[in-house]
Amino acid sequence: MTHAPNLSTADYQRIDAAHHLHPFTDFKALNAERSRVMTRGDGVWIWDTDGNRYLDGMAGLWCTQIGHGRREIADAVHRQMLELEFYNTFFKTTHPRAAELAEVLAELTPEGLNHVFFTGSGSEANDTVFRMVRRYWTLAGKPDKQIIIGRRYGYHGSTVAAAAMGGMAGMHEQAGMVPGVHHITPPYWFDFGGDMSPDEFGIWAARELERAIDELGEGNVAAFIAEPIQGAGGVLIPPETYWPEIRRICAEREILLVVDEVICGFGRTGNWFGSDTYGLKPDLMPIAKGLSSGYLPIGGVMVSDRVCEYLIGDGGEFFHGFTYSGHPASCAAALANLRIMREEKVVERAASEAAPYLQAKWLAFADHPLVGEARMKGLVGALELVPRKPSRRDRFAPVGDVGTIARDISFNNGLVMRAVRDALIISPPLVITREEIDELARRVEKTLDDTHAELK
Ligand code: PLP
Repeated sequence: MTHAPNLSTADYQRIDAAHHLHPFTDFKALNAERSRVMTRGDGVWIWDTDGNRYLDGMAGLWCTQIGHGRREIADAVHRQMLELEFYNTFFKTTHPRAAELAEVLAELTPEGLNHVFFTGSGSEANDTVFRMVRRYWTLAGKPDKQIIIGRRYGYHGSTVAAAAMGGMAGMHEQAGMVPGVHHITPPYWFDFGGDMSPDEFGIWAARELERAIDELGEGNVAAFIAEPIQGAGGVLIPPETYWPEIRRICAEREILLVVDEVICGFGRTGNWFGSDTYGLKPDLMPIAKGLSSGYLPIGGVMVSDRVCEYLIGDGGEFFHGFTYSGHPASCAAALANLRIMREEKVVERAASEAAPYLQAKWLAFADHPLVGEARMKGLVGALELVPRKPSRRDRFAPVGDVGTIARDISFNNGLVMRAVRDALIISPPLVITREEIDELARRVEKTLDDTHAELK
């Protein structure tokens, strides 16, 4: 059964423009243009009020791993709503779904991560990280270890501490910075690699961490936070040399490694977690998005035995938590999602079938006159649009306009992609089929051709 829209598209657009402030949006520009009104989803497809069908190349917002419209999740949430729609997990209470989900997550996530602190989102998970890291070092008798090192173009969310640990300059400019956070260069060879080979640059970028620790003083540094592949920063896939060198540095230095798996987790990079793909052993691991395939909001921080040794100690209460930490309906959605992912081998099949098939098509777009670099890992990729080839140094000015033009053209061609600066980003549902990948590739090609023609 579907809900038919009650009002016309124009009515929805009018009331939306009058009352709704959208995330990461230039409100005035949107009101001049008006929103698309989405009403329905099924598999990799979504529909708007005018009946237009779009291939959802962004899996909602990097999250709908199992695709839209799975009835089993709606049923599980419905059952939970009738049984216990809400109760909190403060004050020595829990409920069956929160306990069950915690156990499943301890099983699924990399070795040593046996505890979860539930949150309502990825941003809340990272604000939790901020407090937990500092709490850990205080309990470990090293209260001076306060500084968290993040990376430029990192994205860890929109709450205050998460935005500070992230490296989005615009966010810092608008709201100011939180003290005790330091940023280093990301492993983004296309922009920052200069004359180095990708492998040389990977080592150089990793040693940025070592240089920062020396500069700030190891006794003052609490943690390094990083996404395995930086998503919102532009799908920055690090050179193969990067993570091994970071692993070496983390093993030699006394700092915690926080691996933000909000995008990379739950199959995106070809394994259950980006940490599996890159052989990482996180001390803390924020998760969200693919945990419930986005069907209901839920996030969490996976916490290692190393951190729990102090956290679950004699230090007393951890003054932190959210009303919706472990919300029963969200936990039911996550459990149903993970059940589907395991039973249908969604991650394994995406890695062995969809990913190599899409990658071959995606990487071939490097030959298009508008594309300076095509990159993809698992089922997440980017195309860097450039004014001239073969130079890697030339960029459109101002940065971002061409990306936005291409993204809008793509939408009109029935394919949702995202633009970051002048890169087009794709991160489709993991269940995408070969036929749907063929369709996606046709729409990408048309979008590149149309954009190229528009720029002439
Ligand atoms: N961490 C990463 C890596 C993300 O990409 C995001 C969102 O895109 C977040 C954290 C924040 O998650 P949320 O939007 O659920 O707060």
